[in-house]
This record gives sequence, structure tokens and C-alpha cells, in this order.
Amino acid sequence: MEIIPSNFIEQAVINDINEKGLNKIITRFPPEPNGYLHIGHCKAVCIDFLTAQKFGGITNLRFDDTNPAKEDEEYVRSIQEDIKWLGFNWEAIYYASDYYDFLYDCAIDLIKQGKAYVCDLSADEVNAMRGTLTEAGKESPYRNRSVEENLALFADMRAGKFEDGVKTLRAKIDMAHSNINMRDPIMYRILHTTHYRQGDKWCIYPMYDFAHPLSDAKEGITHSLCSLEFEDHRPLYNWFVENCSLIKPPYPRQIEFARLNIDGTVLSKRYLQELVKGNYVDGWDDPRMPTLSALRRKGYPADAIREFCSRIGVAKSNSLVQPHILEACVRENLNANATRVMAVLQPLKVVLTNYPADKTEQCLISNNPTIENAPKHEVTFSNELYIEQEDFMEFPEGKFHRLKPDGVVRLMGAYIIKCDEVVKNEDGSIKQLNCSVIYDAQEQGIKAKGTIHWLSCKHSIPCKTRKFFNLLKEGETYQKGMLDKIINPNSLVEYNSYIEPFALEQTNAMQFVRMGYYVKDKTSTADLPVFNETVGLKDSK
Ligand code: ATP
Ligand code: MG
Repeated sequence: MEIIPSNFIEQAVINDINEKGLNKIITRFPPEPNGYLHIGHCKAVCIDFLTAQKFGGITNLRFDDTNPAKEDEEYVRSIQEDIKWLGFNWEAIYYASDYYDFLYDCAIDLIKQGKAYVCDLSADEVNAMRGTLTEAGKESPYRNRSVEENLALFADMRAGKFEDGVKTLRAKIDMAHSNINMRDPIMYRILHTTHYRQGDKWCIYPMYDFAHPLSDAKEGITHSLCSLEFEDHRPLYNWFVENCSLIKPPYPRQIEFARLNIDGTVLSKRYLQELVKGNYVDGWDDPRMPTLSALRRKGYPADAIREFCSRIGVAKSNSLVQPHILEACVRENLNANATRVMAVLQPLKVVLTNYPADKTEQCLISNNPTIENAPKHEVTFSNELYIEQEDFMEFPEGKFHRLKPDGVVRLMGAYIIKCDEVVKNEDGSIKQLNCSVIYDAQEQGIKAKGTIHWLSCKHSIPCKTRKFFNLLKEGETYQKGMLDKIINPNSLVEYNSYIEPFALEQTNAMQFVRMGYYVKDKTSTADLPVFNETVGLKDSK
């Protein structure tokens, strides 16, 4: 069967299959377990898994845990949960830290070939001698140590004979190379830090640029797909796989794609860390965060996120995606799937003076009018109702088709009512509206221009509803350590609201009719359910 490529990566894979005779495509998703996955990572997850799937291949999950100071099991767990939730299944889980012995052997192999050396320069000195884009770097005075000396010193590094930072192992490539990454890059550094998985077994840790290509090769990865900032590292990636004699062809191939950037959303784990550690948010899954766990908690369906990743496509150059594209995917998904329920977010009491106080009726509300013959559920009607404050205007301006003094409105699934009296509190605020049901509206030829939702006071349940806004003040950009100044104090708004009992049964996001999509939050209690806004009904732009 001929496979039609839908982006440049798939085209490259097809070329490799034809040229190198690859018979199985293997990709990997390589997160560093130093934070929760965010929406940017989803793009990478989708590309990694879907590229392999397209060619009948497999994808490994590899925790890129070569930085012992920042990594933790909590992140390892959350990353797995998020990928499963997105609907992807990895073939195997690996940890770069499980390859430490193999990587150590690779380092020895390069030393023996005269392609790596132990260097005594400090990090600052290495940087100072690296040169610039226009100027060659200077060779380290330790560059020409003998193989024997390098082997002995490297063994001493591993044995813990040196303090942090005193020595490094560097690849011996070319200090005059036009690509600065090729100017004798560091392969190993000394760090006397406990690793969350390896404990104190190691006090030397491999650098990403060395560990990543060799880990790919070890797993038989055919295509190592990563974001664009690694493009300049590709020559080094190739150098390590081609020069290490423990690695045999076919070599893995790195292909870069554009990172996902969303306008007004900071996608960096360092920023998210700062928010969490500084208690600016209530954990990694705070619904204001751009993490997957937060989007899930906000009621975003996994399918909508995957649809978003498919819509933004796979491109070679960076671009800025507008956030409403993601929201549109969520809205379309929920419009088609979400159950409709009645909720009054900011209640105003309505008393129906001509409806018997001891009477109730059951009104039928469709669970989803976009689905043909969708089931309906009953909502109880009585003489005392809540309507939305914004559905009444005492002094209406312009065309206002909802309730106003002496005006009529249709109550969804029930009667047309007329507002007879606005009852005020002592402070002048509105206490309630006294209204009457127009039982014979049809005979009288009375039509209502507007239809509003409602709940029976006695039959509804008090709850808290929450809406979320940007974490940073309008126009502010993130700078490390500046959060106090730029954080938006109004990013969370809560209301005392009411819902119909049916809403409590729903675990997925539902449509609060006319008001937006909401989902029950994990902080709900038996006394006070809490609902998070998923997305509004309409695009605000
Ligand atoms: P951050 O910059 O947020 O700290 P990272 O790149 O350090 O993220 P990793 O855990 O190293 O996070 O990322 C795992 C994979 O996800 C990498 O292949 C990386 O290229 C990819 N990735 C991270 N952020 C994005 C993004 N915004 N768009 C696309 N891919 C991304
Ligand atoms: Mg990274």
C-alpha cells in the first residue's frame, strides 16, 4: 500500500525507508521528568506517536533524566498519565539513566580512539575559550593528553576523586568548527548529587548532546524527532553516533520541527515551576496552567487537543498560534458531545404570583439538540425560580429581548412570563422579581422575543462556579523572579451558583445551557460541588 505523506517528516521517513531499507520505524518521546507536560509537549507527543503509527511502527517513552538535581518520580508518573490520557500507547518505557553504564562504555570507546579527553578547565574558562560565530575557539591545554592518562583520569572522575566542576570529559572534534556546538563539547561533568533513580551510584553525569544520540541508537530509534532549537546540535548528534564504534548503522536520524508557541501563553517548565513553587497557583493542575493535567481538569477532551495538534500542522519554521484555535477545537467537540444541563451562575429570584405554591411540573430538556433523537431529561418547575441576573434589566438599553419591567420572556421548556414588579432591598438592590405566568399566551397572540434558562429554587443545588483568566497581567511577558509584579490578581473568579441535580451525575464537561461549558472539579464536596469553566459558548474575539 502506498503511503501518502502529510508533512515533511513523513516524506523524510518514506525516503529513508526507500534508501536505507528500513523495515520498522521507531520513534521516541523523550521528556525530562522535571515538570508536568504542557500543551507544547502535546505537539511533540502527537508527532512522535502518529509518525510511527502511520508507518506501522512503534514509539518508546524515554525519560531523559540526565540532570539529577531537578528530576523526580512525581513527574515520571504525571507524564505517563498524561500520554495515556491523550490516547497513546508506548511500546516500552526507558530511562536515559538506565543507559549510564552503556554511555560510560561509549565514552571509554571514544577516549581509546583518541576522540575524547579529560579537561581541567573550569566551566567559565571553557566558555571563554569557545570563540564566537566569527572567531575560532582556542584549544584546551589538556587536549593532547595521552589515551592512558585520559583513561586513568576518567576512571578517577567516576570514582569520585574530584570535586564538582574540577574536570570534564570533552569530545575532541574541532575548536575552529563553524558550528560552535562542535568545538570540543563537554560529554561528562562531575556532580556529587543523588539521582532520583540511581541514588549515589554516579558522580559523573552525561550531557544531553552526548546521551541523547547514543540512547536513540541503543534503542534502535530510526527517527529522532525534536523541536527546532536542536537543529544546530544535529552535526554533533551525527558525530557521536558515527564515531562511537559501539554503534552500528543504520544510524538514527534527527529531524526537527517548529515548537508550538501560543500567543499569550508561556510554555516553559521553568516558568511553570516558579508558579507552582511560589504558590501563585494551586499546583501543576491548577486550571489556569497550560499543563495537560490542568486542561484535563478544566474539562478539555483529549480528542479536542489532538484535533488542535492536527490543525496546527507540522512545519519547519516557528510561528505563533492564536489561543482561540485551541478553544475552537474544544468548543466544537463539546458542542457535538456535551450533555446540556441548566445552571444559573449569578442568580436572581423570580416569584410567580399566579402559579400554585404547592404545584410542580416536569419540563423536558434535550440532552443534546445537535444529536437526532437525543434523550431528554426532566427539570422541575415551581413557583419560585432563579434566573440569571444578566437576563433582567430594569432600565434596558437598545434591543434587549430578555426580561424587563412589564416585559415578557419565554422560560426555556416552560411558560411565557411577564414581569409585574421589581422588589427592592433597603439598600436599593433588587431582591426579587414578581412575575406572572401567561397561561393563554397563544390565545392572546403573545410572543416572547427572548428565551432564558431558569431553575426552581427548591429543586436546585447550590454550587460554586469558577472562571479563569490569564495568569499574567495584559501585555506582560514572563521574566524570572518577576512574578509578584506581573501576576494578574483576578485570574480566578468564583460565583455562588445553582445547578440542577442531573449535573452532579456528569463526569465529563457539560454545557450549562446558554452559559458555557463546565466540568465538576475534584475539590467538590457533598455539601458544595464546584464547577470549572471549560470554555465559553462563543469565541470572545
Ligand atoms: P521546556 O522548554 O518547557 O522546559 P523542554 O523542551 O525542556 O520544555 P522536554 O521535557 O525536554 O522539555 O521536552 C520533551 C520533548 O517535547 C522534546 O522533544 C521537546 O522538543 C518537545 N517540546 C517541548 N516543548 C515544546 C513545544 N512548545 N512545542 C513542541 N515541542 C515541544
Ligand atoms: Mg529539554
